Amino acid sequence: MGSDRVEMPSTGTLGAVAASVSRVLDSLSAHDCTPETCDTGYAARCPAHADDGLSLIVDITASGLVRFRCRQRCRVHVILARLRLEFEDLFR
Ligand SMILES: [Zn+2]
Repeated sequence: MGSDRVEMPSTGTLGAVAASVSRVLDSLSAHDCTPETCDTGYAARCPAHADDGLSLIVDITASGLVRFRCRQRCRVHVILARLRLEFEDLFR
């Protein structure tokens, strides 16, 4: 009871990045999208179309944002809806 300060881990921004990335990867795995590491981040089966390859590229930008790119041009909000994620989940 001697302190009302909450000790924060020193990871700072990196901790937030890891949270958003791991949340996305968890959702992809839970929806059978089998994420795998690739050059720019991860590749996974797209949950928004019938995908028998790894059409969904999950980019992790230098600033720590998660970005989806589907080779079939599925819209991000459709992908997010299938994964039961909110747009904000990519940033926090
Ligand atoms: Zn797609």
